[in-house]
Amino acid sequence: MGVFSAVSFDEHEQVVFGHDRDSGLRAIIAVHDTTLGPAVGGCRMYPYASEEAAVEDVLRLSRGMTYKSALAGLPLGGGKSVIIGDPATHKTRPLMLAMGRFVDSLGGRYVAAEDSGTSVDDLRVMGETTAHVSGIATTEHGGDPSPSTALGVFLSIRRALAHRLGCDDLRGVRVAIQGLGHVGFDLARRLVTAGAEVRAADMSAQRLERAERELGVQPMPIDEVMGADVDVLAPCALGGVLNRESIPAIRAGIVAGAANNQLRHDSDADRLADRGILYCPDFLINAGGIIDVHYQRSDGDRRNLEAHIAGIANRLDEVMQRSDNSHRSTAVIAEELARELLARQAKAPSQARIAA
Ligand code: NAD
Repeated sequence: MGVFSAVSFDEHEQVVFGHDRDSGLRAIIAVHDTTLGPAVGGCRMYPYASEEAAVEDVLRLSRGMTYKSALAGLPLGGGKSVIIGDPATHKTRPLMLAMGRFVDSLGGRYVAAEDSGTSVDDLRVMGETTAHVSGIATTEHGGDPSPSTALGVFLSIRRALAHRLGCDDLRGVRVAIQGLGHVGFDLARRLVTAGAEVRAADMSAQRLERAERELGVQPMPIDEVMGADVDVLAPCALGGVLNRESIPAIRAGIVAGAANNQLRHDSDADRLADRGILYCPDFLINAGGIIDVHYQRSDGDRRNLEAHIAGIANRLDEVMQRSDNSHRSTAVIAEELARELLARQAKAPSQARIAA
């Protein structure tokens, strides 16, 4: 696979491959765009089937971070890193220290945060060899940005319902969640509290059982969740779940979840629109986490955090309106809006804030 010729390369500023013989580290850092600030993005650890798959993943995720931060009105650029390996068996302290050194070699152009396969504790280990890590502040939730991500998704679901049905009351609204991890569980809690009927699927029987016991969530089989007979489908586990095979089976009228890169291909956005399904673009509605990380990094007043996250739903409104008016998919509109904001904010960075 060529890197420069990959569709997802999309004019990345820098793609760096890192190797450490002693710890066995094999990692890639992608810096897509630093127009608005340092490229802040998660450090993912995953047992990629091939190096090509790792490159493709880091490029797509990194580009998504540029759009995410621009839409969220943050003075941050877009970047991402991946460590090739199974976090369950290959993660060691020397490996995370080596990753910290690799991040440090970019001199702050890239700042690492938690992602799937890495934890706040891993980031703290990386922090021993680089200052360029974030999301490790000792806040009341231990620096984990997931509750903020869940809040942004929750508010977006309400706004999408209001757009579709003219009412954002969640009582009796049926929601299916794929994945009850850090984000999915908190989202389920918020939805149940607001009166929604929540079903969920997860690989982990333990998480499912806990959600049933603590929240009254109705468990469902993994292979049935995408086609669940519900009003809202919330993918909160994996990328690529919206594709040629899954979309025809979706019965929900709204898809709104936290997982990154839910569309397997860009064309899957049209496939959803053709079926009349309202897709809330992932890189727009899951920005709560990066907003939280920004507040941690900049020592921002956390009393303003919720209002900033609420701005995500306002931005979603703008995207849904433009999509309706132009008959183009919400994903295309959100990318277009991100590029407009990037150009505008590059000229006036001090105004880089979403009106809450
Ligand atoms: P997590 O690893 O804590 O949770 C993922 C959950 O999905 C796990 O419980 C896992 O068992 C489950 N799962 C895996 N495969 C599944 C399948 N096929 N069907 C059903 N369940 C499955 O991750 P998280 O932090 O909750 O993040 C979830 C998604 O949201 C990821 O795609 C992540 O990149 C994205 N995201 C997370 C944040 C954040 O703040 N944590 C921010 C933005 C985006």
